Amino acid sequence: MLDIVQVPILGDNYAYLLHEPDEGVTAAVDPGEAGPLLAAADAHGWTISYVLLTHHHADHIAGAQALRDLTGCTIVAPLADLGRIENVDVAVSDGETVSLGATHAVVFETPGHTSGHVVYWFVADDALFSGDTLFALGCGRLFEGTAEQMWESLSRLRALPDETRVYCGHEYTAANARFARSIDPDNAALAERAEEIAKLREAKQPTVPSILGVEKATNPFLRADEPEIAKRLGLDDAPPVAVFAEIRKRKDAF
Ligand SMILES: [Zn+2]
Repeated sequence: MLDIVQVPILGDNYAYLLHEPDEGVTAAVDPGEAGPLLAAADAHGWTISYVLLTHHHADHIAGAQALRDLTGCTIVAPLADLGRIENVDVAVSDGETVSLGATHAVVFETPGHTSGHVVYWFVADDALFSGDTLFALGCGRLFEGTAEQMWESLSRLRALPDETRVYCGHEYTAANARFARSIDPDNAALAERAEEIAKLREAKQPTVPSILGVEKATNPFLRADEPEIAKRLGLDDAPPVAVFAEIRKRKDAF
């Protein structure tokens, strides 16, 4: 099993260290800065040998080069981002696997937030590194992709097993919960979760990772094909992607 260490960086980003104990291999996911990842690796006696990047935004990649310079680690990044990320050693695309010692991740291309975004699903570890595609109770803004692309990307992630832990790129959950309640006010599971989130944040605790089964029941962006939500938005007969686009639009203005 992977040891997963969450490393808060910058303002509200999460980077991660993944350690595969059988072969003693360690990966850093989305190191938006190098220092905290090096410190965390040091504290555990681990050496970073891989960097896994989800997309080209600076708050996810800015520390990658320094880590490579210092450790000689291998940078794994989306093939579609090759022109936008420096010194990529391994370019990955949809359906490929990335080995980390005795375990491995399956790569999903999830365009929407950016056109080249990928996520890494460690199947045996029930762990999804979702970057800025799927957040706890939210999803990434559509900077480069369309609502159609993002809905398709999220639909693919939604099909993963309920027990999957979702390790996303930001601690945005409290604000996402307030928005989710405005879209889905009668959802009892969401109301309960919003209370838990408020308590965790009051105690300065992370709300990430979340559990995919809980996201399926409470995240409005994964529930755009629920008739009840369509109805509340006045989009009764609209296709799910139109409902999704409306939810995304409202979130941008929230
Ligand atoms: Zn981003």
